[in-house]
Amino acid sequence: MLDIETVKKWQPQAFQALDSALKNSHLPHAIVLISPGEVGEAELAEALATRLVCSDPGEGLVSCGKCENCHLRGIGTHPDVYYVRPEGRIRAISPETIGGMMTSLQTKSLKGIAKVVIIEQAEALSKESANKFLKTLEEPSSKTYFILLTSRGERLIPTIRSRCQTIRLAPLGKEDMLKVCREELKLTVPAAEFLARISRGRRAKALQMAGSLGEYQKDAADILEIYSLRERALPAIREFSLAKHRAMKEIKDQGDEEIAKAKKKLSDELKDADPNVKKVELQKLEDAMIIANAEILQDMRAAVYEMLTDLWRDVWLMKRNAPEQEALHSFLLPQLKRLSSLYSEDEIVRNVSEIDLVRGPAVFLSMQFDVVLQGLLARHIAPPEGRVLLRDAIKATGL
Ligand SMILES: [Zn+2]
Repeated sequence: MLDIETVKKWQPQAFQALDSALKNSHLPHAIVLISPGEVGEAELAEALATRLVCSDPGEGLVSCGKCENCHLRGIGTHPDVYYVRPEGRIRAISPETIGGMMTSLQTKSLKGIAKVVIIEQAEALSKESANKFLKTLEEPSSKTYFILLTSRGERLIPTIRSRCQTIRLAPLGKEDMLKVCREELKLTVPAAEFLARISRGRRAKALQMAGSLGEYQKDAADILEIYSLRERALPAIREFSLAKHRAMKEIKDQGDEEIAKAKKKLSDELKDADPNVKKVELQKLEDAMIIANAEILQDMRAAVYEMLTDLWRDVWLMKRNAPEQEALHSFLLPQLKRLSSLYSEDEIVRNVSEIDLVRGPAVFLSMQFDVVLQGLLARHIAPPEGRVLLRDAIKATGL
């Protein structure tokens, strides 16, 4: 967790919005914090929840830190603060989870001050869950607060969003991001500068990329090489896509192995437990681990599409004679310039919009990644005249 002073510095507006709402006693009963990822949203939600249940709060977003409620919050066992998170293999917040939360809310608050529900990854509310939840949101009992967290605000069900006050957290500024890369991630100056640029203020993205910067740079160079071959690139496209597919499969297999090991360990620990309890616990563990692994793979797929978009963005800048330092991949300037002469403005724009079209479904649905990537890259290199359909492009790659 980040300390609250850092969050205050990074998110002055969001902090101020909550602070003055509390000072003026205008805090809405439902708030959604929309963030670019790990820039203080969880810490703000925690601080607000603690402030709301504190017996002796200060003015604004300040809790006393001394009362029993603050103590219980500190050790994470406050009975009036509930957490709702996506569960199960499909990573959804189920109607049952919402039902359970609503039942808990019907009882009197145990400490008599307020009840707070923190809903993590609120975009995972299914339609059915959202409808159930709406009833509670429309007729809030007094002293019950909902704090929703999401880094995908556009996926949040509109009827829910319209009943919450939105507070947006900002991406980190360049200097703060550089500091994260230098001090927190211990990167060298050039690596920190590159990562600060490419992550665009999303700390979650920087944390995720920090360990694989070399690999990213190699992939970016390979992709530019592929694009420069134009129609002669099909074998290289196939090779690149299959290599990515293999890397992801390796991670998936590794994950499966870890699940098996963890299940065996838990099974040994619970050898004397009731068989039904044991079964439920093993299933819970497996589900949680499957979700975590699926998220890693999802992030990897998303990163490939983001890299493609960012590379074309740079080619576009070169095409428009923008200053060189504006390029995200400044270490690839000669290659970027070469592509800017090989592709027309129309082609560049079309390529970017095709990535946009494919990336959502290709990241979140279980489409075969290497096939989609091959098709997309094959479309990108095709000449503007007689461009082939996606399925023909896939056929052309020999699959
Ligand atoms: Zn307190």
